[in-house]
Amino acid sequence: MGARRGIVAFALVAALCMGAAADAAGDDDLSWPLHGKVTGHFGELRAGHAHEGLDIPVPAGTPIRAASTGKVVMRELQDGYGKYTCVAHTRVTTCYGHQSRFATKLGEMVGRGQVIGYVGSTGNAPVNHLHFEVRLGTRPWGKPVNPMKFLPGAWRDPIAQAAARLSLSRRSPP
Ligand SMILES: [Zn+2]
Repeated sequence: MGARRGIVAFALVAALCMGAAADAAGDDDLSWPLHGKVTGHFGELRAGHAHEGLDIPVPAGTPIRAASTGKVVMRELQDGYGKYTCVAHTRVTTCYGHQSRFATKLGEMVGRGQVIGYVGSTGNAPVNHLHFEVRLGTRPWGKPVNPMKFLPGAWRDPIAQAAARLSLSRRSPP
């Protein structure tokens, strides 16, 4: 009797611990950080370099939400990126540029959907927009990869599909 109760209790504790561990680690299935039309795509050529994220123009002050649970591993003013925050998840890190205002602290744990900052045009940004990046690994400045591969519904956007095809098969024009 006592032994059986012990086994049930152990199973409950184990299940709770596994749930907690999954929450703490976050995951790499990302949510959109805000709603808006993507006007700048990953891999587009910009003044001598390939664009490393997505641009989503929305009014200044629009809240930016963490794409998944994770830890703030960078939160500082950068040349070009302006006010820039990076959140490390399990295997990728998401970064958010050109903010008008920060809403987290370095080292803080944030939940999916938690406001981490507000849209602005700090750094090299001609208009108010979110510059959103996904980088491999959980340290700042990992290799940038196409955020569309991690976001729900992105492949239904014909402009995104065309941009992805272009970046996959970029050649000199005939
Ligand atoms: Zn950008």
